[in-house]
Amino acid sequence: MSAAENWQFEAACLGVDPDLFFPGLGEDAEPAKKICAECPIRERCLDDAIERGEKYGIWGGKSERERRRIRRQRLQERSLAGTTVPCQVCGRLFVRRSNNHKACSDVCSLAAQRERQRRWETTRG
Ligand code: SF4
Ligand SMILES: [Zn+2]
Repeated sequence: MSAAENWQFEAACLGVDPDLFFPGLGEDAEPAKKICAECPIRERCLDDAIERGEKYGIWGGKSERERRRIRRQRLQERSLAGTTVPCQVCGRLFVRRSNNHKACSDVCSLAAQRERQRRWETTRG
């Protein structure tokens, strides 16, 4: 095993019955998820399973379905990161870091935040 794979020796599931991590249809995934919740390499394990496109079992505390959702979200975020869009506030073009990145600078994001706050107050008051 290479050094890159050594992290798996810290796994909280080492020595635990593997069947627990592959619950069948209608079987409870909670016992496995509880072990994952305490695991020091949970994030790494999850990322790894998502990258591999792992189809079965609980990895990093998430089921196959949950991992698919996370993967979709990540891909979507990635596809929008790096694209050039106009700032929501001043209209200047900027390169967005993620999906939710809509203002070109701290000044603009503060202005956008104030505007949201103002609108919120008007609809409430
Ligand atoms: S997160 Fe869960 S499946 Fe992954 S190594 Fe830790 S205990 Fe095992
Ligand atoms: Zn701006």
